[in-house]
Amino acid sequence: MKITTMLATLSGAAACALLPAPAALAQPAAAAQAAQAAQRPQPPMRSIAQVRGNLYKVQSGPGVQPVTVFLVTSEGIILADPLNPETAAWLKGELAARFPGKPVRYVLYSHYHWDHARGGAAFADTAKFVAHEDMPKMLASTIKAAPPPGSSFDRDGDNRLSRTEATGGTRAQFDRLDADHDGYLTPQEINGDIRPPDALFSGDRHTVTLGGESVVMVHTRRHTDDMVDMYFPKEKVLFVGDYVWPRQICCAGADFNQRPLSRWIDSLKTLETLDFDLTVNSHWGEGTKADLVAMREFWEALRDQVQAGIRAGKTLPELQQSIKLERYKDWQGYDRQLPAVIEAAYDNLTQYPSP
Ligand SMILES: [Zn+2]
Repeated sequence: MKITTMLATLSGAAACALLPAPAALAQPAAAAQAAQAAQRPQPPMRSIAQVRGNLYKVQSGPGVQPVTVFLVTSEGIILADPLNPETAAWLKGELAARFPGKPVRYVLYSHYHWDHARGGAAFADTAKFVAHEDMPKMLASTIKAAPPPGSSFDRDGDNRLSRTEATGGTRAQFDRLDADHDGYLTPQEINGDIRPPDALFSGDRHTVTLGGESVVMVHTRRHTDDMVDMYFPKEKVLFVGDYVWPRQICCAGADFNQRPLSRWIDSLKTLETLDFDLTVNSHWGEGTKADLVAMREFWEALRDQVQAGIRAGKTLPELQQSIKLERYKDWQGYDRQLPAVIEAAYDNLTQYPSP
């Protein structure tokens, strides 16, 4: 998925920023010291911001680094994804300082991907961990059956990822994930820091209540089998997963995660039935309900035009030439991503024709 390409780009940019500036060499001692300090690796720019009422958002770094949310109640805190050990340790300290006497009582997992689900151990002393019943299945699966983020694919079927098989964010973080430094990522290495859930739910929805507040976990089956979006009814906010991007064309890689495009559309329609007006997106900033509706309409228009083209016997290059979807030309990524998205839809609809 392009999301991970962007993550890899960001990691590259961060590495470049650590190179020493030549001008520092000629500066007097104090200035040189200050310059040296500025050149030391900086911790990621993590931040906490109020979304609405008692709901807060945690940004784990710049750009498209993963985001999580937490809800403060009279009896403690409900946290969504812990993200990673470093962010979780930092967040634990921040929460203790900002909300004394309110431990994290729940950690609610959105899905098994390592860029969201690691680091929960920091909260295991006070929290119960809740997930969809498919999450442990995904964590116990082979890499082929439950690929890590970035559409990394175990091509030779040895149930480990070589550096060349890993793509996107998984490739960018390869050395960090490769605990034994043998040049291969096993499922145990990829998922090693994921604290298993204690409580599982089945079915479409599950409500977690604490201190008079509630969060509805909505199983949308998209992106991954265990995918859960989180609805905060009192705040009218929806925390949405890796597959919703407000006002941009992006990330239809891996042919829509090997799922029929119609299932993506149906999942968005399910979310539209909820009463919210703001979305917090797991990598993509914030949006409105209208943005989510517009995204669903975009997928429908894309599906209809590509499907019609396939039925008329058109080739992919012909469709990439003729399909313009100009209504969306102001969206970020329109020029860069549209041909790739048309290709993804073409491959997807060839495999799963639309009725
Ligand atoms: Zn993901």
